[in-house]
Amino acid sequence: MQRLLRIDLNKKSFLFEELSPKYVKLGGRALSSQIINREVPPTVDALDSRNKLIFAAGILAGTSFPNSGRLSVGAKSPLTGGIKEANAGGNAAQKLPKLGVQAIVLEGHADQLTTLKIDNAGVSFIDAAAIKGLGNYQTIEDLKQEHGDKVSIISIGPAGEKKLKAAGVSVTSPDFHVRMAARGGLGAVMGSKNVKAIVIDDTDSQKVEIMDREIFKKATAKFTKGVLAYPMIEGLNALGTPVLVNMINGMGCLPTRNYSVGQFDRAHQISGEYMAELMAKRPNSVPAHKCMAGCVIGCSNIFTNEKGDVIVSGLEYETIGLVGSNCMIDDIDMIAKINWACNDIGVDTMDVGAALALAMEADILKMGDANGALALVNEIRQGTDNGLMIGNGCKVTGDTLGSKRIPHVKGQSLAAYDPRGLKGTGTSYATSSMGADHTVGNAIPNPLSQYDPSSPDGQAEMSSFLQIYHAAIDSMGICLFASLPALDFADLQGHIVQSIGALLGETLDEDYIKQLGIATLKAEREFNINAGFTKEDDRLPQFFKKEPLLPSGNVFDVSDDDLDKVNAF
Ligand code: SF4
Repeated sequence: MQRLLRIDLNKKSFLFEELSPKYVKLGGRALSSQIINREVPPTVDALDSRNKLIFAAGILAGTSFPNSGRLSVGAKSPLTGGIKEANAGGNAAQKLPKLGVQAIVLEGHADQLTTLKIDNAGVSFIDAAAIKGLGNYQTIEDLKQEHGDKVSIISIGPAGEKKLKAAGVSVTSPDFHVRMAARGGLGAVMGSKNVKAIVIDDTDSQKVEIMDREIFKKATAKFTKGVLAYPMIEGLNALGTPVLVNMINGMGCLPTRNYSVGQFDRAHQISGEYMAELMAKRPNSVPAHKCMAGCVIGCSNIFTNEKGDVIVSGLEYETIGLVGSNCMIDDIDMIAKINWACNDIGVDTMDVGAALALAMEADILKMGDANGALALVNEIRQGTDNGLMIGNGCKVTGDTLGSKRIPHVKGQSLAAYDPRGLKGTGTSYATSSMGADHTVGNAIPNPLSQYDPSSPDGQAEMSSFLQIYHAAIDSMGICLFASLPALDFADLQGHIVQSIGALLGETLDEDYIKQLGIATLKAEREFNINAGFTKEDDRLPQFFKKEPLLPSGNVFDVSDDDLDKVNAF
């Protein structure tokens, strides 16, 4: 039986709670968002102890369904002031259901910095003074020494302890690399609760009970086969997410020089193709790394230097876009080093990358100055004024520096797709309750479809469809890349629904995915409305509407009326 594990940090107590009817059969983002909407006062300060921090395993987590171990982290966001869910790979979400836990709910705040250890015996509250102020990498190393190498570790770095708005939450992969639930400042919420780390140990735990193993096995096998046959998967496996650099640059939508241009003339030097050439020559580089057990794609990487020392894992497209082209940095090794520093300090590379570009635009450092950017990121650790500014993300940085070109929605930076050329993605940035996330509804054109991303028409419908789908996928714990083939092939969606039905021992409605997505989006929207958001918050910054994006000359011209149609259930 799956339960909520409620941890009262004020009293140092915990309770395994049977899932109540309103939460039963939910997981991941759906469960996190329903709990926040029902239990967190919407107008409370995000760092107030009445905010709750949720760690929810997806509905399929802990089973053999492929790529289904993403961990949803949710709370009211200090960055946006609205509801937030950010998810990460790693192995924490696969361990929780084996302990009979669908989600951990952190309530109140501890009176001293604490590590929580969760295992079959329950929860231990451990003094974290010895790891106070450490970066994520040393924190993980120390906790691994103490608790063994079979555990999963969720932690925050100095940025979370300092409660900075761009602080994220680190989750370890099976081989103890850092994966980040980076967006929305959820690391600051963990810091506000005085929790430095959570160690999850599933030794001697049970397998997840599957009500109809035969049907589950068959449906899962068919889904896996369909995913592996999808044309894009080969490219993802060979080049990882950096395969997108040349593709998005070719479309004229790669953020360059603080979203001034859509093409970077040195894109090749930061591309997936170039990285693959380097990795083939460098010892210990792994080009198709898997962030979790059960992944059948392997879109990540372990990126090393010429001597074979690890610089970072994994170096992903979004980081390359925001820290690289958007800051005019063309040195892939330096981007990897900045990525490592961000992971260690525990900040979102996207929000910090966007903040760095604003600092460059304001002449705090030169555009393209990679060493200066790395030094400025390290100032977050030191707590200098500029470091704290950058660590609070692009909106605070832009406001502090008087910029009129801050690429954000609801306080959160855009991802690495310029919305003037990808208007469906822009519509999702504008209208999502989460702020400008790409994962909520990224409308990248597919060669199989007739979809035109640069037309203002039809984007509300496209974004609505994608937002519903991805809200459901985030609730199941399935990674985005495994979910993409099912967008084109409805039979694969059928296999997902059948697998969940077999897991739960139920026959689910054909439109189960749609219902789950809509219910989740409704809860999120309701929370934000109660927190004071209006339709004026569902807009992109003016400069995307006024400044033509070169070389295409596109502006973002999806009408406000169309934006208001999205998610109007
Ligand atoms: S495809 Fe990539 S993100 Fe998805 S589970 Fe595998 S490594 Fe992780």
